Amino acid sequence: MTTEPTTTASFDAAHPVDDRYTPPPCGELDEIQAAFADGRLSGGGPVLSVYEMALAAWFGVKRAIAVNSGSSALHATLVALDVRPGTEVLVPATAPLPTAMPILTCGATPVIVDTLPGSLALDPADIEAKLTPRTRAAITLPLWGYPADNHATEALLSEARVPVIEDACQAHGTRVRGHYAGTRVTAGCFSTHDRKLLATGEGGFVLTNDEALADRIDHYTHLGHLRGLTHGVNYKLAAPLAAIGLRRLRHLGDQLRHRRANAHRLVETVAPGGRLRELGYGPDDTPNYYNLVLVADHDAPAVAATFAAAGLPPDSVRYGYRPLYHQPIFSRYAAACRNAERLATTTFQLPVHPAMSEAPLQWVAEQLAAINARSHTP
Ligand SMILES: *Cc1c(COP(=O)(O)O)cnc(C)c1O
Repeated sequence: MTTEPTTTASFDAAHPVDDRYTPPPCGELDEIQAAFADGRLSGGGPVLSVYEMALAAWFGVKRAIAVNSGSSALHATLVALDVRPGTEVLVPATAPLPTAMPILTCGATPVIVDTLPGSLALDPADIEAKLTPRTRAAITLPLWGYPADNHATEALLSEARVPVIEDACQAHGTRVRGHYAGTRVTAGCFSTHDRKLLATGEGGFVLTNDEALADRIDHYTHLGHLRGLTHGVNYKLAAPLAAIGLRRLRHLGDQLRHRRANAHRLVETVAPGGRLRELGYGPDDTPNYYNLVLVADHDAPAVAATFAAAGLPPDSVRYGYRPLYHQPIFSRYAAACRNAERLATTTFQLPVHPAMSEAPLQWVAEQLAAINARSHTP
């Protein structure tokens, strides 16, 4: 089995960059075969605990609980923190639907909070205004793999004893002040959906250093282990999918290095003083480059149109990305969040995955240099 990344797609100027990344085969079939040889293909198969231990070791946490999706990871964590009807959960206005829907699944009330200017971090002043005795949790969101932390926010939530759930579904390997995203909070929730950095088709996991919380999440996602003592759901990850994750986890580090190298290459082509700059992050932080994210401080609609015309539509065009309360099912929780509005309309997401070979990288670099150099209306 080959372990070297290979690129089979040839360069096509009409469709120069595919934002979808399929990792090259890395021996997943051997791992699946081992699961078949064992015969137990359910979420009770022995590969599950091996996978969970490998995840905990890779991220440097005490416990990992594998589940069948990132949405399940978020829902189970909220339930384990006693989020239920009559309670509130702080969620950033930058949240896409899958971040916030699990709050509704709990029957709880989402309280939409603004981010700091030009940042994905929750705004501490807005949190202070919105904390109530019913606040049961806060969700932080390192969207596109960019850090979303802030000292003041962290201190405020900790003082108010509000547990923090990081939706790290796009942030496998993002480093925040020397730690991995999702490991310095109460619990980190990850997805292993096909489009994420660690992909098992469908799947997810929760990371935590809180043993009691880990046990509650484990029980809830495994039907209370059929003891009849606690209510639960069946969110178990099937053994063949855990087998895929176990093998692909070995290559996550290489993937991160490759994405960072591609991102740096493109960032270098964006000369300072132009229309574009990279989304900011701290000196001790490293994005995982789920996407490279560029910002236009002026003329963003025109820049967006130029990107889209070049075949590089930003998320606002490609996925209709917008602040959470512009989604009909969340409009009743609307709260003006000017910074999140601005972030949604001035950011441009670009693929930098390892399957981008020299030709598409060079092509994107040329587009960026041209868009960056174009003068803007003052
Ligand atoms: C993918 C994703 C989810 C949901 O994960 P699923 O595995 O698709 O359920 C949640 N939040 C964010 C930010 C995501 O990118």
